[in-house]
Amino acid sequence: MTEHDADLVLVGGGALGCLLAATYARQVPGATVLVVDRGPLLAGASGVSLNAGIPAARTGALRRLVTRSDLLFRSESTLRAYLTEHETLYLVRRRDLDEFSRMLSVPPLEPAAAERREFAAQAYGEIVPDAEWLVLDGRQHSFVFDTAAFVRDQVRAADRIAVREHTPVDLIRRHGDRWVVESGGTVLARGRAVALCVGAFPSPEVVGASGRIDPAEGRIKRISSLRVRLPRPVAGAPSIVWAGASVSIIPSPDPAVCHVNFHRSRYAPEHPGTSPLFDDADLAEGLARARPVWPDLPVAGIDGVAGYDLYRTGNEPAVRELSPGLVAIVGGSGAGVRLSPALAERAAQSLLVHA
Ligand SMILES: Cc1cc2nc3c(=O)[nH]c(=O)nc-3n(C[C@H](O)[C@H](O)[C@H](O)COP(=O)(O)OP(=O)(O)OC[C@H]3O[C@@H](n4cnc5c(N)ncnc54)[C@H](O)[C@@H]3O)c2cc1C
Repeated sequence: MTEHDADLVLVGGGALGCLLAATYARQVPGATVLVVDRGPLLAGASGVSLNAGIPAARTGALRRLVTRSDLLFRSESTLRAYLTEHETLYLVRRRDLDEFSRMLSVPPLEPAAAERREFAAQAYGEIVPDAEWLVLDGRQHSFVFDTAAFVRDQVRAADRIAVREHTPVDLIRRHGDRWVVESGGTVLARGRAVALCVGAFPSPEVVGASGRIDPAEGRIKRISSLRVRLPRPVAGAPSIVWAGASVSIIPSPDPAVCHVNFHRSRYAPEHPGTSPLFDDADLAEGLARARPVWPDLPVAGIDGVAGYDLYRTGNEPAVRELSPGLVAIVGGSGAGVRLSPALAERAAQSLLVHA
């Protein structure tokens, strides 16, 4: 195993790690970057994300992040190849309307056009009593794109980024003016700066090395996604995203597969280290949630994916400088991919002073 010298070492190659690598390489002329992941790139939550986002934001800070990410996504030329935008249809209970409107980044909500309501009523029936079908200011708000392909292309396009997969980092220490990154007692890399983008379950050693990254500050949320293969492709086939009692509907990224996304009711108290397998309990819960919405749900060809995400108080993602030249990025639960360009930009800025 050869030792690597880099201006920036990224620990964790999910959406955040890869986008930060690409952003940093772009912003710092001549800078070299190394991305290290304990598995393949995008093996964590980013690899199972539905790749669309609902721009819900409880606070002004989060709203600004959503807006900035949207701008970066739209101006990103590589992304245009993957991006399709869709109108999202929200089903919201009347008594939750104010709270729901506050959470959205670009209010106001408006009643959906008659044909959209009719489509929803036919496809989904009455899901939530005393609720209304709404859209967000009549514009397109759901991005649907292939995260994995997009992120890999970002990393590949930057010729100063190296990638080391299947290499768990278990120690990060300071030596002179460099950060030393180790795996199994071997020095992997020396970096002028290090960024930890390790998702919901960093290994305990990395938590210890940073001294301050504590997943206990948030809750671990289990998100599962039922994938229903349709007998034949349908353009605009719906994906259903549950958030509490409200449901959002966006066209599926793949016309042959519909997604039903839901949070498992229990939070994972354990520290399993890797993402869970989709199991029978996920399937049962997914079907129970999907059936009232979708009575004719086909029973064959259903599988699913599950993953863990970090839910922080207020759901705000954060870039934290742990020491000079050592930053940690913690994603926003359920929208970590959607917010990743703005977060990557913020992290790159805080690292630039060490470039
Ligand atoms: C089913 C599901 C659906 C979702 N849908 C959406 C959606 O539609 N839109 C959206 O925006 N968000 C969605 N999310 C949330 C989103 O996927 C996450 O917020 C986001 O992917 C987090 O990105 P990340 O890079 O921080 O973490 P991750 O993608 O988990 O990446 C962390 C990486 O760090 C690596 N790592 C950890 N420890 C070490 C170590 N010690 N050494 C080396 N490498 C290490 C892991 O292997 C992993 O590759 C969904 C999540 C799930 C589970």
